[in-house]
Amino acid sequence: MTFCLSSDRLVLATQNPDKLKEIQEIMKGCPIRLVSLLDYPDVKEVVEDGDTLLDNAIIKAKAAYALTGLPSIADDTGLEVDALNGAPGVYSSRYAGESATYAQNVTKLLKSMKDVPEAERTARFRCVVALVDGENSLWVDGVCEGSILNERRGDSGFGYDPVFDVPEFGKTFAEMTADEKHAVSHRGKAFRKMKERLIGA
Ligand code: IMP
Repeated sequence: MTFCLSSDRLVLATQNPDKLKEIQEIMKGCPIRLVSLLDYPDVKEVVEDGDTLLDNAIIKAKAAYALTGLPSIADDTGLEVDALNGAPGVYSSRYAGESATYAQNVTKLLKSMKDVPEAERTARFRCVVALVDGENSLWVDGVCEGSILNERRGDSGFGYDPVFDVPEFGKTFAEMTADEKHAVSHRGKAFRKMKERLIGA
């Protein structure tokens, strides 16, 4: 069923211009104008203290709706590693500590996985996208299956990209072009699903 928005403008709850550009590209063909919190200088940082990716996506989308009065979407992503019982999951950005860098998080992951045999290194990225429009809300998710390498490979991307291998490509996310990554990534899948719900495809 198509979700009817109360406005032709949709706010993406981010101040990251690269994320806006990436999602605008994915949402092309949708009869909506995607704007971001870059247009709202009064925005305050939101505490993402939910227990799940969905909780955090809703927290961010609700905060953007409260600020703008416009339908708002937000995403939250986690890396789920089977050998670590689903960790780092919702804590992916702060796996090695509150203000950990991407490099520190990857180093901690490699250390935690040091003795895990190849066949047991399966993992997935999960992205949840939530839309809040007054009383109405909607969420979708996107998953990309892969496995964690023993060492970094590739220079592109960010976060855990250099150690996340996608078997169907035989490449890590960090070895893919941006277009290749978006075609198979958790975020690409989730936002394409959201687009389908908005245009009724
Ligand atoms: P966020 O919810 O998009 O901010 O993602 C949370 C954390 O997950 C980020 O800080 C990254 O460490 C990691 N992450 C999210 N998306 C990706 C990705 O596409 N590649 C690698 N790491 C990612």
